[in-house]
Amino acid sequence: MNTKQQHTLGAPIIEMAGVNKWYGQFQVLTGIDLSVRAGERIVVCGPSGSGKSTLIRCINRLETVQQGTITVDGIELTAGGKNVDRVRAEVGMVFQQFNLFPHLTILENCTLAPMRSRGMTQQQAEEVAMQYLTRVRIPEQAKKYPAQLSGGQQQRVAIARALCMAPKIMLFDEPTSALDPEMVKEVLDTMIALAEDGMTMLCVTHEMGFARSVADRVIFMAEGRIVEQGAPTQFFDHPQHEKTRQFLGQIL
Ligand code: ADP
Ligand code: MG
Repeated sequence: MNTKQQHTLGAPIIEMAGVNKWYGQFQVLTGIDLSVRAGERIVVCGPSGSGKSTLIRCINRLETVQQGTITVDGIELTAGGKNVDRVRAEVGMVFQQFNLFPHLTILENCTLAPMRSRGMTQQQAEEVAMQYLTRVRIPEQAKKYPAQLSGGQQQRVAIARALCMAPKIMLFDEPTSALDPEMVKEVLDTMIALAEDGMTMLCVTHEMGFARSVADRVIFMAEGRIVEQGAPTQFFDHPQHEKTRQFLGQIL
C-alpha cells in the first residue's frame, strides 16, 4: 500500500495563524500556526484533552476562536457572517459517533443536504448519493435505516454523505474509535481510497498504521499546542520531544 506515489500538493487551502481559543477561563488552543496544502493528508494525534477535536472543529467553524485568523480556500472564517455557510459547503466532517439522522433512510441521509443547500433535485441528489454509496461499497443498503446497519457500515454512510456535498476538504474526528475492531479496516480502507483520489484530509486518529501509510504529515498536540510535526517516518522513528516519545510509547 503506497498511496504516496505521484502525489503532488497544491497551494495552501487552510491557513491558521496565531490562533488562541478559550473555553471560559481555560485556554484550549495556544499559538496555533498551521498551513495545509491542497491534496495534503494530515494526521493529528495527541493525548485526550489536548485540543485535537477543537482544532479541527475550528476549520468548519463548529467552534469560533478569540484570537488569530483562519482562512479556508480563500474564505476568511474569522470574519463570520455568510462566510460560515460557504465554508461548511466546502468542508465535510465525519465524527466518531457517525451522527446519521436515525429517522431517515441511508439514501435520505445522503440527499438531504445536497437538496437543501446545493439546490439539487431529488433525482439529481439520489444519483449522486448512489454513486458515493457505491464508492463506499454499500449501495444495497440505501433503503434501510441507520439502526439496521453495523457501525462500520454507518460510518461509511457518514463518509458518503459528506462526499455528496462535493467538499474540497474532509475532516475526520476519530472516525474508527467507536467501532468494533473488526470494522475498523473497512472504514480505513474507505479513507485510503479517498486519499488516493487526492482529497485534502485532516484526520484525528490514533491508527498509526494509517498515519504511516497515508499521511504526508503527522501533527502531535499536547495541552493545546502543536508540539511536533513531521513526515511519518521522521515522526515515528525519530520523535524530537519528550512528550511525543511518551505518547508514542503509550500507544504503539
Ligand atoms: P481532544 O479532542 O484532544 O480530546 P478537545 O478539543 O475535545 O480535546 O478538548 C480539549 C479540552 O477542552 C478538554 O480539556 C475538554 O474538556 C475541553 N473542552 C472541550 N469542549 C469544551 C466545551 N464546549 N466547553 C468547555 N470545555 C471544553
Ligand atoms: Mg477529541
